[in-house]
Amino acid sequence: MPVADPECVISLNETVTPILPVPRLGRHFGLEHLFVKDESRLPTGSFKARGMAMAVTKAREFGIKKMAVPTAGNAGGALAAYAARAGIKSWVFMPEDTPAINKMECVQAGARTFVVNGLIDDCGKIVAQGEKEKDWFNVSTLKEPYRIEGKKTMGLELAEQFEWNLPDVILYPTGGGTGLIGMWKAFAELIELGWLEKSGLPRMVAVQASGCAPIVRAYDAGMRFAKPWEDAHTFAAGIRVPAAIGDFLILDAVRESGGFAIAVDDDVIEAARLRVARDEGLLLCPEGAATYAAYLAALADGRVRADERAVLFNCATGLKYPMPAAGEALDLANPA
Ligand SMILES: *Cc1c(COP(=O)(O)O)cnc(C)c1O
Repeated sequence: MPVADPECVISLNETVTPILPVPRLGRHFGLEHLFVKDESRLPTGSFKARGMAMAVTKAREFGIKKMAVPTAGNAGGALAAYAARAGIKSWVFMPEDTPAINKMECVQAGARTFVVNGLIDDCGKIVAQGEKEKDWFNVSTLKEPYRIEGKKTMGLELAEQFEWNLPDVILYPTGGGTGLIGMWKAFAELIELGWLEKSGLPRMVAVQASGCAPIVRAYDAGMRFAKPWEDAHTFAAGIRVPAAIGDFLILDAVRESGGFAIAVDDDVIEAARLRVARDEGLLLCPEGAATYAAYLAALADGRVRADERAVLFNCATGLKYPMPAAGEALDLANPA
């Protein structure tokens, strides 16, 4: 990690997150080699803590006083918390339909929180303007160099947890793509250090929702850059990113790794979420559930084999996304 002054480290204890097997799902479907990397246990309930801990630490080193971010939700919550801990002022801009809990956690941590009538790229434009006019430091995805360094820890942990024999496939819910790009960077650095073999790299799979799938569309069309997605919609807010600034970095990593990009429908994501909660006691976030849905689709079309070790990323706690079980009211007359 590029920390120059350990005195400046701002941390809420970004713990190593567990890799959970899913034995009951495995028994149902013959999936013996499926694992969930459960990022829900991180501070502020999402993996955004990994990046923001690093970004705020560096900001403190540089004496930055004001930080601003456009967010689909969790990046705002994480910036608000780490900035509060560092005594730095923060500004957060989020689309109207961001989950209520994300809005509240930002307000609670003292961030100047604004709800924008638009999508995350509209929020990004406001932050870019404030960068020029208000002296805000812009912490947008990939507009500053340190969040990605923090995200590398996901790749480092995987290498350690799988005892330097990485899984065959990683399915990652892809919005701005920092997680996927960060892991890929971590693997490249481990190869350079001689701690990993290039032949042992996993296939990286970018998972998106069908209502917002710019990376999947570009992948399928053989393009290196992704055209912005019109009318983006999905209840998986973390992957509702119509235009990713690092589109080519995501697509390069996916292709270099021999992976692919895949989209799943919201109703399938919702059903996947219920299945995993009921079979494994694991309440995934919608984005995490999308990776399970994508895994099943990839098994069905042969792009992943059941005997391959696959890791799903659950990037946030499901508790941030309360929703009734679709179409299943409790039957009080028949409580059994
Ligand atoms: C931010 C976020 C994502 C997308 O992560 P990127 O690395 O930016 O692609 C996925 N899921 C959740 C819950 C998120 O908060």
